[in-house]
Amino acid sequence: MSVFLPLVDPPGPPDGPALVFSVRDRDVSVGEGEAPEGGLFVGILDGRHCWAVEVGPDDQADPDAFFVDLRRLWGMVKNPVWVLAGRSVQLVDWARTHRYCGRCGTPTELAPGERARRCPDCGLLAFPRLAPAVIVLIERDDGCALLARNVRFPGNMYSCLAGFVEPGETLEEAVRREVKEEVGVELGDVSYWGSQPWPFPHSLMLGFLARYSSGEIICAPDEIADARWFSREELPAIPPGISIARRLIDDWLGRGPL
Ligand SMILES: [Zn+2]
Repeated sequence: MSVFLPLVDPPGPPDGPALVFSVRDRDVSVGEGEAPEGGLFVGILDGRHCWAVEVGPDDQADPDAFFVDLRRLWGMVKNPVWVLAGRSVQLVDWARTHRYCGRCGTPTELAPGERARRCPDCGLLAFPRLAPAVIVLIERDDGCALLARNVRFPGNMYSCLAGFVEPGETLEEAVRREVKEEVGVELGDVSYWGSQPWPFPHSLMLGFLARYSSGEIICAPDEIADARWFSREELPAIPPGISIARRLIDDWLGRGPL
């Protein structure tokens, strides 16, 4: 079992070669080496220092570097390394998009000891951006689950309903609102299930289980192409294992009828 310790600064000299996540736009290359110039320290994975560094299109890349889209990297490296690659892509993107103060336009600098960039003129702090999103598996008393096909989904895939949390909302309110907006049904109990960092581009997915309460399915036309109640025996195409949606569905499948 891997152990990761997130840190902003290296606690001392490294024991051996560092794990270096080179980020070029949304692509990442995982390699070994020394602490890269201009890199962001990410933390320590199983005793190894981890760094994230931006590689520009004109930078002389390491000839061994193999850049791959973060989604495609999943399954090519061990999961803790993939999660760190996602963290690295997000940190590099944050550093790249917060070089100037959002309030007064002054160039920012790294805030010592914090994962933040600070404006030396007005003091505004900019932390890495995270967009919380809820995702929910809705179950009816007969054991069927409500799965929906988003208009943007490829092929004929059905998944759990999901949406971003709005300012001022609790997570449970966001679940009820999204479900009402997207398929028109009301929920009974809503309970937290688990979460997953989702670096596309900077979400945190918060998974919920919910009981159906009332209402007929009415799909929001510009978002949901189709939504239906599925039994465990008549499952449609579902998302791949990379996502919490799949884990929510697998959990429901494994539980069997209530
Ligand atoms: Zn400022």
